Amino acid sequence: MSNTIISVKNLVKNYGNFQAVKGVSFDVMEGEIFGLLGPNGAGKSTTLEIIETLREKTSGEVIVDGLNLDKQPNEIKKIIGVQLQTSGYYPGLNLLQLIELFCGLYNRDVDPMELLEMVNLKDKAKAKVKELSGGQKQRFSVATTLINQPRIIFLDEPTTGLDPQARRSLWELVKNIRARGTTVIITTHYMDEAEYLCDRVAIIDAGKIIAMDSPDKLVDNLVASGFERPKEMKMANLEDVFISLTGHSLREG
Ligand code: ADP
Ligand code: MG
Repeated sequence: MSNTIISVKNLVKNYGNFQAVKGVSFDVMEGEIFGLLGPNGAGKSTTLEIIETLREKTSGEVIVDGLNLDKQPNEIKKIIGVQLQTSGYYPGLNLLQLIELFCGLYNRDVDPMELLEMVNLKDKAKAKVKELSGGQKQRFSVATTLINQPRIIFLDEPTTGLDPQARRSLWELVKNIRARGTTVIITTHYMDEAEYLCDRVAIIDAGKIIAMDSPDKLVDNLVASGFERPKEMKMANLEDVFISLTGHSLREG
């Protein structure tokens, strides 16, 4: 039996008189990749940022690794890894210097080169963030979530805007991070990504969770309800064509 590492109960967030999150409840198990799926505006980022202690909730209860968000937000901050906006990095510093800076801020003794190697950016140690491709920027931003050796990392749409090769490279990175025992909570609106990566997903729409299970189980339930695809499935899709023509390797120029 795995342990619950995040427990969210009846979470509500009002922005003025607009209710963005309408009483959301879910648990995340230790060591799983948990996906929050939903269209734009569903309330995914709001929910994540509340758990990350970055946004005030209106009501509800959030427990992270036994710590109550209302009483111990600073303790929660120590055990979670949060992606920063790439625009927020000091523009004059290179990747190595940025990681050294963060290590100092977190008071952690991490080998910056080892971290860059893990995200496949060792060659770019002396580059500035603005010189990176979209996929490299995202991998760097994932690396920064790992500096404080967190038990849980939060990734908010880490693959939006990336080409298929860069998305796949990020997927492997996320799987590697989980393989080291870190719990991952990720948002996406790419269903293939959720199917490949997530052990369980919650589908959130207009501030409410409308389904929650493993991707496999959700598909089985739909099929059991009598659903059939309108068109017979081919053995490949256009993305398979694209990947097979342009190769699996990263093109980051
Ligand atoms: P998602 O990440 O799923 O796209 P968000 O959590 O960012 O959704 O937003 C949920 C809803 O709350 C949206 O309708 C959005 O416009 C609204 N919203 C988000 N942040 C604010 C804010 N700071 N003030 C007012 N409304 C907001
Ligand atoms: Mg969002």
